[in-house]
Amino acid sequence: MDRRDILRRNLDRVIWNIERARVSVSEHHIVKIVAISKYSDESSIEELYRLGQRAFGENQVQQLEKRVDALDELPIEWHMVGTLQRNKINKLIRLRPSLIHSVDSLRLAKAISGRLDEHGGKISILLQINSTGEKTKSGVSIEEATDIYREISDKFKNLNLKGVMTIGATSRDRLLIQRGFEKTYRVYEELRRDGASICSMGMSGDYELAIKCGSNMVRIGSDIFKMGE
Ligand SMILES: *Cc1c(COP(=O)(O)O)cnc(C)c1O
Repeated sequence: MDRRDILRRNLDRVIWNIERARVSVSEHHIVKIVAISKYSDESSIEELYRLGQRAFGENQVQQLEKRVDALDELPIEWHMVGTLQRNKINKLIRLRPSLIHSVDSLRLAKAISGRLDEHGGKISILLQINSTGEKTKSGVSIEEATDIYREISDKFKNLNLKGVMTIGATSRDRLLIQRGFEKTYRVYEELRRDGASICSMGMSGDYELAIKCGSNMVRIGSDIFKMGE
């Protein structure tokens, strides 16, 4: 199989798995795939675009910039999913990503909003929640999430706050991973009254579980881009 066939096979498998998980929740539950291209190259992104994939994400501003530039003739929807350093905010705003998943504090929201005042326009963001309490993960705690969400939404009118994001527990214990997703979903449910419409959770190792817990946006890297079995 050449690279194109492998990418097609990977994407088909992922779509099929999502379909199964999605329908087990509800026929009406729609899930969006963001293909995380950080392990791959621009020609693979282009290949996937040809296969119908439209949303792609990166976890580093530098890499995102490189790709946005290289693929600027394609109307790709770019997402930023990784931890954002404050000195990269201006660069990121200039790239006009369609969604920043990783706003992990009130302070970061304030900084983005301040810079955006100078650039003009609005930007869509998600509030990242650390649903597992792991020290290695960023995000606001489950307990503070709703208050911080409402505060960002009240204070920073140039931020279009669209929902929440979490990263599943780094563990082989499926129940532990599930609990983090369930907690995040409960916060999301509560915030739907405040206009939240996106619950971004699930990566290659846990997206089916995340969907069963209510996720409507999955960020999948290795399962889509891997070249082996
Ligand atoms: C890399 C990354 C992903 C995708 O990870 P895979 O396990 O390769 O699917 C999703 N979300 C974030 C924040 C990432 O950094």
